[in-house]
Amino acid sequence: LVVIGNGVAGITAALRVRKKKRDWRITVVSGESDHFYSRPALMYIYMGHLRYQDTKPYEDPFWEANRIERLRGWVTSIDTRAKRLEIADRPPLPYDKLLIAVGSRYNKFGWPGQDLEGVQGLYGLQDLELLERNSVGLRQAVIVGGGLIGIELAEMLLSRNVAVVFLVREASFWDIALPGEESAMVNRTIVAHGIDLRLNTELREIVDDGRGRACAVVTSKGERIECQLVGLTAGVSPNHAVVKGSEIATGRGILVDESFRTNVPDVFAAGDCAEIVRSEGGPGRVEQLWYTAKMHGEVVGDVIAGDERSYDRGVWFNSAKFLDLEWQTYGQVPPDARRPPEQKHLWWEHPSGRQGLRVVLENGAVVGMNTIGIRQRHRVWEEWISKRRPIDYVLAHLRTAGFDPEFSRRYERDIVARFEEALR
Ligand SMILES: Cc1cc2nc3c(=O)[nH]c(=O)nc-3n(C[C@H](O)[C@H](O)[C@H](O)COP(=O)(O)OP(=O)(O)OC[C@H]3O[C@@H](n4cnc5c(N)ncnc54)[C@H](O)[C@@H]3O)c2cc1C
Repeated sequence: LVVIGNGVAGITAALRVRKKKRDWRITVVSGESDHFYSRPALMYIYMGHLRYQDTKPYEDPFWEANRIERLRGWVTSIDTRAKRLEIADRPPLPYDKLLIAVGSRYNKFGWPGQDLEGVQGLYGLQDLELLERNSVGLRQAVIVGGGLIGIELAEMLLSRNVAVVFLVREASFWDIALPGEESAMVNRTIVAHGIDLRLNTELREIVDDGRGRACAVVTSKGERIECQLVGLTAGVSPNHAVVKGSEIATGRGILVDESFRTNVPDVFAAGDCAEIVRSEGGPGRVEQLWYTAKMHGEVVGDVIAGDERSYDRGVWFNSAKFLDLEWQTYGQVPPDARRPPEQKHLWWEHPSGRQGLRVVLENGAVVGMNTIGIRQRHRVWEEWISKRRPIDYVLAHLRTAGFDPEFSRRYERDIVARFEEALR
């Protein structure tokens, strides 16, 4: 088995196969790093909270002990007929079975000046090294794109006392995913941290200082903003460059069925780079989260080892941190623009404007929840949502969902009272 990509999808799959196939030779090829590390922890390396070695989930000797061979290099092409990979500066590598788990790449939308020095995204270790170099003498940065990576980059730069201007195309931060109240809460938090948040504003152009380096941006409102760094964080796309020229089919990502099989025998794809097409048809699904990439890795590892399995992501969940605001979401919580008429939303917000809880109902049963500033227990909400518990049940048992009982006890009575009033 050869795996391209040592991220969470590729590594989870390799370990799964190793458990079931003691005698297989397993090789993981990656251009980015010698070892698997936690990508979501990148920001903490820059901020000095963690060292790179602290972000590795396994000690270095683990790989030899488990006979997972690691090969550092960039795969340049795949010959599916000869079953062979071409790798830059290395001899070709044959395979019997191949898993492509090459992740995402950050978007560039053809902005004038997007390839100037001082313009960059944040995806991997090489971007972090570049950011270190770009941070020398940095006074003001412009970040383009209001999503999860944009806000992380803003927090990173603030930790080095860099002034940050944040250009967000939408009318409110990440309102393509967050309902209005949560989004407004994040807007306020961004501003409270001293970030210059410019909503309804797009990047038009990045200005060259005459020596090939960015010195300013021009926005869709015609403003010119001086800066020494432009952070491109307008989303990521499945990285399918490596399959170009091969017979492996792509759409938005590398097309796979629910067992992560591509159209070519013995070739699989999983994680951020895969686009899952269900057997009953419909639009393909791309999932670009750490959690889902890990779940993909578990399923595809079993399938490669010979089991019949298909992926069912179960109750949707995600979590993130917006500066000092923690957010969790479970089940179906659409943004305002996509709220179906049959849904009823119950929203509680603490007068401080720093804690909120939303419960989404359909026919009186809970189908989703969002919490911000309060931690809740994943397993409890997962069970309530999968069993479509009635709201009365949820309110009667809300205490059992509190992750930090001392803390949430302060809010529970208020939340229950607010929701009961809204339901009357
Ligand atoms: C800054 C940042 C913060 C994030 N924070 C969170 C978070 O808090 N929570 C969350 O759920 N998700 C988060 N994500 C998303 C999450 O990290 C990804 O969904 C996840 O890492 C995807 O795993 P993967 O195994 O599919 O791909 P990746 O982790 O991208 O691994 C793919 C690997 O393949 C390598 N590769 C690519 N092409 C080639 C090639 N041609 N040859 C050799 N190697 C190649 C890449 O360099 C990379 O090392 C974050 C992402 C970023 C960038």
